[in-house]
Amino acid sequence: RPSSRISGITPSGKDGWEVHFAAMSRHQAGEKIIMLSVGDHDFDTPSETVEACVTAVRGGFHHYTQLAGIPRLREAMAKISTRATGVPTSANEIIATPGGQAALYAAVQAVLDPGGHAIVVAPYYATYPGTFRAAGAGFTVVETVAEDGFQPRAEAIRKALQPNTRAILINTPSNPTGAVYTRKSLEGIADICRKNDLWLLSDEVYWTLGGGEHLSPRALPGMAERTLVINSMSKSHGMTGWRIGWLTGPEDIVALLISLNVVTTYGLTDFVSRAAAEALEQGYGVKEIAERYASRRKLWLDEMHGLNNVVVRGSEGGMYAMLDIRAVEPDCEKFAWAFLDTENVAVMPGSSFGEAAAGHIRVSLCQSEDVLKEAATRLKRFVANYA
Ligand code: PLP
Repeated sequence: RPSSRISGITPSGKDGWEVHFAAMSRHQAGEKIIMLSVGDHDFDTPSETVEACVTAVRGGFHHYTQLAGIPRLREAMAKISTRATGVPTSANEIIATPGGQAALYAAVQAVLDPGGHAIVVAPYYATYPGTFRAAGAGFTVVETVAEDGFQPRAEAIRKALQPNTRAILINTPSNPTGAVYTRKSLEGIADICRKNDLWLLSDEVYWTLGGGEHLSPRALPGMAERTLVINSMSKSHGMTGWRIGWLTGPEDIVALLISLNVVTTYGLTDFVSRAAAEALEQGYGVKEIAERYASRRKLWLDEMHGLNNVVVRGSEGGMYAMLDIRAVEPDCEKFAWAFLDTENVAVMPGSSFGEAAAGHIRVSLCQSEDVLKEAATRLKRFVANYA
């Protein structure tokens, strides 16, 4: 029989994804569904990045690479991390990974033994439970409150500590809520980490989409030595399918993770690494993508403004908007199914991401402004007619 570590890892982590899967199959069967349930860009990777990759393929970069990532890529990542966190970061504190998810996996493997315990702040990204399960570790979910804009409360986290707790996992800007954690929220968490000698696993893959200056907990006093930052080019550089991410952390942990790569990835794809390095150095697409999502968020918030019985929560950054629909229908799964069946628009029920987001729907902004406007019109009609 399969090991308990790999049994029961589901792609979604929780129930409620049936709406998305049903919408996908209808969509693929030719029905015109507006898909606002997934978090992948509706546009291609910037052409400069594509050209850099083609040049690298033609240039014969077809071979094994360094386990930590090619030096030029690590150097570029270190520079970005320095900029993103404000903490001077060297290439030795970086390991390049195939996407942010692999950085997350590495972070959890790095600090949790089988039987260890972590705290996860909810609503959380769907793969988190499986990532802990794959390490044989347990976790406690600490819910946030919708009315707080899904900001974490230190007191709630403190109460969830156990004798074997080793780490806290947070995500800012957040998927699914779009909440951007405030300095006060992050300071509260940092304080708990320092006082209880915990690691902070900080998923910052949406760091360029926060709508302002990014604040990383790695920059807080005494945190650089106990924070592992998960980062990615998927969202910031429009490169979801390229699978390039990285982890930033103390040099000794990074050295151990480089050894782990001997038995996992054995390094990244050579020509992809070269294109990624150039994209980081030149910032291909970063500004445009950030602006595009900022204007989509604004459009969506404007459209929702004044819509009776629907309240926007969080939604300060990232690629999603969260709508509190409890005054229309307390059961968000029921709402999402009915919206799909009546108006052919797919959204995610918030309950798929933890209790705090129950009674909400998550709207992905990964569609053009015209499509989003059409979806907003259908949502308004649906809410007005909801009985
Ligand atoms: N973390 C969060 C919060 C995400 O939303 C995602 C992707 O949607 C990831 C990590 C992983 O992204 P990737 O592996 O494409 O870098």
